[in-house]
Amino acid sequence: MEAGKVVELSPLVRRITAGNGSVFTGPGTNTYLVGKEEVTVIDPGPAMQEHIDVITAAAPNIKQILVTHTHPDHSPGVRLLKENLDVPAYGMLTNSSKNQDQTFSPERILDDGEVFQEEEFSIEVIHTPGHASNHLCFILKEEKLIFTGDHIMNGSTVVIGPPDGNMKQYIQSLEKLKDYDIEKIAPGHGELLENPHEVADWIINHRLEREKKVFQALREATKGTPDSLVEKVYDDVDSSLFPIAKASLLAHLIKLEEDQLIYSSGEEYFIENTN
Ligand SMILES: [Zn+2]
Repeated sequence: MEAGKVVELSPLVRRITAGNGSVFTGPGTNTYLVGKEEVTVIDPGPAMQEHIDVITAAAPNIKQILVTHTHPDHSPGVRLLKENLDVPAYGMLTNSSKNQDQTFSPERILDDGEVFQEEEFSIEVIHTPGHASNHLCFILKEEKLIFTGDHIMNGSTVVIGPPDGNMKQYIQSLEKLKDYDIEKIAPGHGELLENPHEVADWIINHRLEREKKVFQALREATKGTPDSLVEKVYDDVDSSLFPIAKASLLAHLIKLEEDQLIYSSGEEYFIENTN
């Protein structure tokens, strides 16, 4: 994927990838332009002027901006876009301040299930907490295409970092996608994906497999923390990724506790309730 290029994906949808590729963002954040006569921008990306310039050159007729969530690689571009354009931005907010774009102040907070009825197309809003509590997906009904932000990425595993990230909600939000008539995924990072329902199932299984390893490791050790368990649970990943893995491991421990399968006291998790 080449940053700064306008890629035509379908009659209604174009994609521009920002030049912020990294371990966390893969090839960079995808911005989507929906519509021809009037354009809805999904995720203007990081605050990179050159990226914003490509967006406005490709779409001189922007009507509104939608934001999947407020991590720094997805929404700070809103502020730059609005410097020269009088257009509204919509999304959800979070109480968390960790790793969040504090400049995002939407004209209106979106509701799960609401529909933007435009002249050329309609977009349905779906609340999908998990990666972030305020995460939204958007379905372009006419093309059965779902914009998944960081709920589903192509090519890398989504980071679930507590407390704003929540593994139990993440899996529920993946299950939720299976209620919708969708045929393609336009992720926040990476290329288009086919078969959304199968992709969701694959991710759910993958996460539950990892959860099993977490439970197993805790049972062997009888107690533990992300620090003490990471080596055993993530024996298939390079140790340079352990800092990220620990966030997901904590998310798994919290889910297991929410499911009342394990217990905690302070930072430590237990297989038996010692209280
Ligand atoms: Zn994110």
